[in-house]
Amino acid sequence: MTMQALPTTQTDARQRIEELGRIIMAYSAVTEKLEQSHDRLEQTVATLKAELSEKNRLLERSNRLAALGEMAAGMAHEIRNPLGGIQLYASMLAGDLNDRPAQLAVVRKISQGVHRLEGLVSQVLQFTREIRAHIATMNLAQTVMQSVEYAALRMGKKQIDCQRLGPSDLEIQADSNLIEQAILNLLLNAADASAENGRITIEFRAPTHEQEARQFVLSVEDNGPGVPAEMMDKIFNPFFTTKDDGTGLGLAIVHRIVEAHDGTIIVKNIPGSGARFEIRI
Ligand code: ADP
Repeated sequence: MTMQALPTTQTDARQRIEELGRIIMAYSAVTEKLEQSHDRLEQTVATLKAELSEKNRLLERSNRLAALGEMAAGMAHEIRNPLGGIQLYASMLAGDLNDRPAQLAVVRKISQGVHRLEGLVSQVLQFTREIRAHIATMNLAQTVMQSVEYAALRMGKKQIDCQRLGPSDLEIQADSNLIEQAILNLLLNAADASAENGRITIEFRAPTHEQEARQFVLSVEDNGPGVPAEMMDKIFNPFFTTKDDGTGLGLAIVHRIVEAHDGTIIVKNIPGSGARFEIRI
């Protein structure tokens, strides 16, 4: 039996169906790609939004601290002058009361109170003075080691185990005295927050990508109770303290030092562990 060729219209129809199939497949491949890039775009937008809100939060904190510092400096100046007068009158009065011990004791108490206030005022003025970073080449590893040594006594009292993680050499451009002070303040706070036999980890490294930091990332982590959520916003405020003998200036100074280096500092609680302060400069 001889094969008969299909009529042309049927061949055309089959070709068209095949073509249509190819078009549909190409179309769905494009759709899939579009969907994927849409998902990626959505992810990027979400990341950028999160970064922006974090930056806004840090900026708001910087502005608030600057305003608080300015207000504190203004008040300290106003308080200093009358204090000088009170001290002068109290000492004149004390001279006249040599033969009246009961009244003399009261005047001495006034003098002591004024003396304490003068100490506080000079602390405020010292704190609000502009911090200027004297930038030079320094080895961060050495500075970290020095700060750990200074904090050793406070950590030793509670038998805290302090781990140092980082390269043995990391040259950066910064003010070594200021960086040392910032690290020391973080270590002392970590020691205060730790229980007996606690653990503090100080870690430093060069940044892995440009957005992270320009020169280095350094973190101090403890295994204390962490920072209560309602205090997270306040701990960098000057004079905010929860300690009986605290000044509330430690973190405010760290913040100013980091700012003087155009860096940022963030704090997070680590689930199952304590607080983690991270400096990025
Ligand atoms: P001070 O040490 O004099 O209290 P700081 O400014 O250094 O002043 O600290 C402010 C407050 O922040 C502390 O009183 C404490 O409540 C809280 N804080 C600081 N570091 C930590 C930490 N590692 N863990 C828990 N809370 C902390």
